[in-house]
Amino acid sequence: MAATGGHEFGAEDWEMFRSIGRRIDRQQFEAFQAQGEQCGWCRHPIRIRGTVIDHAGDSPRLTFWTAALPDGVTLKGCGSRRETHCPACAALYRGDARHLVRAGLVGGKGIPESVVEHPVIFLTLTAPSFGAVHAEAAGGPCRPGSPAARCRHGRARSCSSRHDGRSDVVGSPLCHECYDYAGAVLHNACTPELWRRTMISMHRQLAAALGCTQSDAKQLVRLSFCRVAEYQRRGIVHLHAVIRADGPEQTLPVVSPEQLVQAALRAANGVTIVHPRGAARWGEQIDVQVLERSEKQRAKAVASYVAKYATKSSDDSGALDVRIRSEWDLAKRRLPAHLHRMAEVSWELGGVAAFEQWHLRRHAHSLGYGGHFLSKSKGYSTTLGALRAARQQWQVERARKSVESDDRSLHARWRAVGIGWANEGEATWAEAQRRRREDERRCALEDFYSRERPEWPASGAGEPF
Ligand SMILES: [Zn+2]
Ligand SMILES: [Zn+2]
Ligand SMILES: [Zn+2]
Repeated sequence: MAATGGHEFGAEDWEMFRSIGRRIDRQQFEAFQAQGEQCGWCRHPIRIRGTVIDHAGDSPRLTFWTAALPDGVTLKGCGSRRETHCPACAALYRGDARHLVRAGLVGGKGIPESVVEHPVIFLTLTAPSFGAVHAEAAGGPCRPGSPAARCRHGRARSCSSRHDGRSDVVGSPLCHECYDYAGAVLHNACTPELWRRTMISMHRQLAAALGCTQSDAKQLVRLSFCRVAEYQRRGIVHLHAVIRADGPEQTLPVVSPEQLVQAALRAANGVTIVHPRGAARWGEQIDVQVLERSEKQRAKAVASYVAKYATKSSDDSGALDVRIRSEWDLAKRRLPAHLHRMAEVSWELGGVAAFEQWHLRRHAHSLGYGGHFLSKSKGYSTTLGALRAARQQWQVERARKSVESDDRSLHARWRAVGIGWANEGEATWAEAQRRRREDERRCALEDFYSRERPEWPASGAGEPF
């Protein structure tokens, strides 16, 4: 009986697998299951061929070769962060994101535990309005008002319906002709730069509050952050950021949490980027909260809250997960009309010289946004790369134990030969195994809090307008 990932595979599993059309023997089936577990039952695994040769002895010895495995390949996860593209790899990404955010709040993964004493704020930055949009029902009609009031295109300025949150209508404009699509796309495009300038301005505000020059302030206080970008239903990115103040060499800084709040508000209200169609700035819904010092429970909630958004796509269907190559490519994608128009406007503006600097065609599938979905400053905590490397190291250690050799004598050669499962049956099987694995995990204590929809924070995430 093959024991992989804590689950025992018995004769019934093998029989069921044979019934989907793969006539492999029992031993091969166990090898296949081990392969699947290894890549986490990824939806689009990378198929790799290769060998590992041990040069420790008198003559080189072949210690591992994929030729012996089913289809002669080993499988590696696709590594996508998008839930719609690959739920298995997105779960892994979410876990890493959670560790990263949490370490910056309470220490761990190379960050001293004393950071828990440092002032930390949670900042949410949204975009301004680009025209009235339909909203999810929250006790009343969508947009109350006189049905007689019309825009210059003859469309009603009010809406008496109560929309289901899952409806495509939510987030779409009351009049698509009045709606400022170019402004919305350019806001997305300017968001990374708006953020950068907000952080610079925050340093300036702190220097002013401390009554010293900017270079002196930099010696006294360093700001570290971790931020995540999330799409609102109207297709516009907003940012959630954890910002921590550190003193020299990770000591307690001389600023209070209140000073941090004031600096963030002044900075966020002050930054503007001029573009050919007007200017980009943050909306009025700037929300900032102080995170209390030793509430470790809260650190978990914040980490889950932030991590959850890091794996979201710009649309629920996943139609915008992949870069748009041409107008024809965009036309083929099945999207709600509003998001389709956002992508289309991004593509159109991308062809105009005045908008060149934003690479709007390259970012049309992300509705103009060209930044990262999860990013952090150097000093905040460990990196996603370090977390991934630690996981790989653990796998290497495990493999090495079975070979009993010095790793420097092992020479591996790998070559990717394809992507995906061998056939429909295998893909269906993999999806079922992933769900089983997810259920098992759900029960595990370590993971339980990420499955609950985090209720934190109560305010600040208001969407759409
Ligand atoms: Zn994957
Ligand atoms: Zn409505
Ligand atoms: Zn109109």
